[in-house]
Amino acid sequence: MKVTKNIRRYIDDQKSLEDRLFGVVLIVGVAIVWVSMVVTFIERLGPTANIGSVASAIMLLAVIYVAYGRKKMDLARLMLCYVLNCFVIPISFFSCGAIDSGMPLYMVAGLFLVVPVLKGAKRWVCLLVSFIVDVACVIVSYYFMPQGVVEEEASGFVAHLTLQARIFDMVCSLILIGLYLIITTTLIMDAYQKERETAEELLIKLDELSSKDELTGLYNRRGMFSFLEDVSVRNDERYYFCMIDIDHFKNINDTYGHFFGNVVLRQLADIMMAGVDEDNNEIVARYGGEEFLIIFRADRQEEAFRRIDRIREKFTDVKWDKDPDLITSFSAGLVRCSRFGSTAETIDFVDKLLYAAKESGRNRVSM
Ligand code: GH3
Ligand code: MG
Ligand code: MG
Repeated sequence: MKVTKNIRRYIDDQKSLEDRLFGVVLIVGVAIVWVSMVVTFIERLGPTANIGSVASAIMLLAVIYVAYGRKKMDLARLMLCYVLNCFVIPISFFSCGAIDSGMPLYMVAGLFLVVPVLKGAKRWVCLLVSFIVDVACVIVSYYFMPQGVVEEEASGFVAHLTLQARIFDMVCSLILIGLYLIITTTLIMDAYQKERETAEELLIKLDELSSKDELTGLYNRRGMFSFLEDVSVRNDERYYFCMIDIDHFKNINDTYGHFFGNVVLRQLADIMMAGVDEDNNEIVARYGGEEFLIIFRADRQEEAFRRIDRIREKFTDVKWDKDPDLITSFSAGLVRCSRFGSTAETIDFVDKLLYAAKESGRNRVSM
């Protein structure tokens, strides 16, 4: 079906929720008004009904023109709300049987339309005006409704419906307005749900992006300090800090190029990650260019030393495609966290140990 496909495309193409709701309301509104225009002529509901329905149809066409022809969406939204609430619904109210018909339901639906379609002061002004118009219509209808028992259909200002017609009208109105409320509320809730999910995904992504290092996938300094805020490493006797710095990394860069330097950084990152247990609250962070911090747990000092030394051995054992004779190494400082009063103190001391390891010949762990 080309028509339904086009309608769906029209609704889907509207980017914001307001535009999609506007599209739905306009399509439904136009359909109802055109159907009722035909009905008023067939049923001979009188000149008020005829003129009113034709005028309503023309006004809605004008709204369509302003929205999609002139592309003035804000104006079109405003027009739609006022045209429906202050013209189409009041005219239909009188010509379709007033409070004896399903028209009060349309009034409620008309008010409900304003909330998602208009924003800010425009919304509240339109709601107030529409509300006053609706209440006035109901009061005015009291003076024009055919009073007492009316045998035949009155052809006065207010159309009089027979009981059968009233029931039929109420059933149609209930279905139409019910569907309208269900569709609009579903659209709103779905959009809200989608928005929430996107926002949550973005937050998780943002948190990851801001706490992880892009090159190695390890925690960056921010991520590391955030970890230290959550985990009280100084109160746990088993926590160790290990600061690692690649030996002669500048030479590697200068000899084999910056790109290969990155390969070395990533390879070391993988080796370190394989040596820690993230589920056990252990982390590896890229502390600087070619400096890393491993925060991990061990029952005894010897075990802590052995774990880092195994990482060191693995790094020296790597066979590099670029040059099989190249041996990479790092120097490291290792301390137990509980010995220090603050993170700054711990890092300061572990840095000194690292310096000592460099001084005493590199490729070693100093504890
Ligand atoms: P030492 O054994 O004393 O540590 O010597 P070194 O050459 O490793 O020390 P230095 O601090 O002089 O050199 C570190 C080098 O790391 C310099 C810098 O260009 C390089 N570097 C820092 N970040 C990156 C990076 O992301 N990628 C690459 N390829 N190199 C980096
Ligand atoms: Mg360095
Ligand atoms: Mg270095």
